[in-house]
Amino acid sequence: MDILKDVWQVKEDDFIYSFDVCKRIIRWGNNENISTIKHPYRALRKEILFGLLHDKLIIEHDDIKINVFYDKSKLLSMNLTVFQYILQSFDWVIDATGRNSIVKQIGFAKNHAIGHRKIISTEVKMHNQSNINTMYIETLHDGWLLLTPIGENKGILQAMIANYKFEPHIVIENMLKRAVIIKSQISHSIGSVSLFDAFPQITDPLCGFKWISIGDSAISFDPLSGDGIGSALKCALLASGVINGISQGMSKEKCLNHYSTRLRKALVDHLGECLRYYLSSKFTSLAWDEEIRLMIKLLRHLKTSSDFLYGLNNYCLVPLTDEFN
Ligand SMILES: Cc1cc2nc3c(=O)[nH]c(=O)nc-3n(C[C@H](O)[C@H](O)[C@H](O)COP(=O)(O)OP(=O)(O)OC[C@H]3O[C@@H](n4cnc5c(N)ncnc54)[C@H](O)[C@@H]3O)c2cc1C
Repeated sequence: MDILKDVWQVKEDDFIYSFDVCKRIIRWGNNENISTIKHPYRALRKEILFGLLHDKLIIEHDDIKINVFYDKSKLLSMNLTVFQYILQSFDWVIDATGRNSIVKQIGFAKNHAIGHRKIISTEVKMHNQSNINTMYIETLHDGWLLLTPIGENKGILQAMIANYKFEPHIVIENMLKRAVIIKSQISHSIGSVSLFDAFPQITDPLCGFKWISIGDSAISFDPLSGDGIGSALKCALLASGVINGISQGMSKEKCLNHYSTRLRKALVDHLGECLRYYLSSKFTSLAWDEEIRLMIKLLRHLKTSSDFLYGLNNYCLVPLTDEFN
């Protein structure tokens, strides 16, 4: 929220269609201990956030061209030759095409996927008496369930699973039947079921000559963190700092290295957080053991130094040591 307010000058009044969640009730590790923590969280539909930011952008920059690709069949079709042509035609290409990003699809960069886990998601109707400003999360032996209220007595129910043998709607219904704290909050399911990749991943390399990947295209987080959008915004800010720094004559190699190190460090921190939760989750499936093994393996491989060369000031990288002065 702070980044949205700083960068987009979004104001509280802009969020009339959002829904505030203030606490999280947690049952983690299949034990009887249920804890409640303060958890300020704002839920809003992505179409609404998109519309809000779109309008702000148009007001600030009337020369900007925006193409909206909600219709998946109308996405830009890209291959290596077209991408190389685009690279020649522009000063910088910023790849913000999400988890299955263009740079990976055309083989310009590799993907390191850390596991196979998925989220099954559906909209549900919550009981009238449900505590509507509360988010619920609980673990079962085969994954976790998260219930996020979105207003009008509705909520989004998400199930995280390491693998699945049956249709996703059967899997989520089955998990809901076994739930301890979430089941009693839901009166019935009202939506169709969607399936999303939810494993962490990193693109390699993250940037190169005149191109840079940001957001989920660069690093994707496990939704457990609830921080994917925040991380994507931070990537975008850092990338603008890198591009500005290079255009002002700073070493391209050092700036791009700094970008990669920062993002790898963010993923290392994220994997550490995931492991802390998943090692105490008491999941009992081999598939979850494998998810955990892969996270530990990549964590060892990625270990980075956190001696950063640059800071960020007013959308531009600034050297932190005298070496550059
Ligand atoms: C189930 C689930 C729950 C999550 N919950 C949360 C949460 O509660 N909070 C949170 O902060 N994060 C959450 N995340 C993560 C969050 O959604 C992402 O981190 C965030 O959307 C990344 O933003 P992005 O702009 O990098 O990528 P995206 O949001 O994926 O945007 C990429 C865009 O690029 C477009 N695109 C792709 N290919 C092309 C092409 N060829 N031509 C033109 N356009 C193209 C796509 O259509 C899309 O609009 C969740 C993720 C999942 C899977």
